[in-house]
Amino acid sequence: MIGLEDVSVSYAGGVAALRAVSVLFERRDMTVLLGLSGAGKSTLLRCLNHLTVPTTGRVVADGVGELKSGRALREHRRRTAIVFQQHQLIGRYSALQNVLIGRIGYHPTWRTLFPFPRADRILALESLDRVGLIEKALVPVRTLSGGQQQRVGIARALAQRPDLILADEPVASLDPATAEHVLDQFRAIAKQDGIPAVVSLHQVEFARQFGDRIIGLSGGCIVFDGKPGELSDEALARIYARPASTAPATVTSPAYDARSEDQPLELETAP
Ligand code: ADP
Ligand code: MG
Repeated sequence: MIGLEDVSVSYAGGVAALRAVSVLFERRDMTVLLGLSGAGKSTLLRCLNHLTVPTTGRVVADGVGELKSGRALREHRRRTAIVFQQHQLIGRYSALQNVLIGRIGYHPTWRTLFPFPRADRILALESLDRVGLIEKALVPVRTLSGGQQQRVGIARALAQRPDLILADEPVASLDPATAEHVLDQFRAIAKQDGIPAVVSLHQVEFARQFGDRIIGLSGGCIVFDGKPGELSDEALARIYARPASTAPATVTSPAYDARSEDQPLELETAP
């Protein structure tokens, strides 16, 4: 079980990105985070991994206790793998080398000066196999397509053997068919490995299709938490209502604007 307890985050300049959010992820569920840009989705995901440290409140995780010591933090980060929109891969490295980076958290720093142990290399290859890229293991990732690179990012997260897999708009720059394939993989990981997956998305339709649970954020607060079947028009209106006190938020993701299926735009003009 991993989650947030009363977590608020204020960035420099006084922006309240999260306001007393409490949420738990315990089952092999795929949870989709929905919300306008600026709603706090990335901040919530980053808090779960402790890349962003809560201003108040705390991250709760079975078996690691208080995330105060460097050791506890390292252990927590290792257990909460995060996949980013832009993959954060090293282009000149092979897919296998990139996936092996997921194993670094298991070794002291000096260990990375030497070749990874055989068990790590086997696990990395298995991870690449799971995302269907075993034949690309030795190819530099900069030569792979966007969808393939995202799958290498997923394989790297898998190689971490995490207890929770997080993904911040992992399909924002992919075409719809590739996006479906990638989301399918997140769902399969949650089910097969029995770990929760928490994925932020812009597309309501994908949230309905792939989510076991949907969490809607608005202005740093959870304004919806339920099953896809419970996501009514009224709930969507709540999620995509612009908070009165902030500047207009943008709806589209800068990296992939050609999405005619983007629901929020339609909703805002609906009567
Ligand atoms: P989302 O991922 O839903 O777009 P974010 O979590 O990125 O939302 O942002 C929530 C709010 O926090 C926004 O108002 C955003 O401008 C602000 N914010 C995010 N990151 C920073 C930062 N590093 N410094 C200052 N403000 C930030
Ligand atoms: Mg974001």
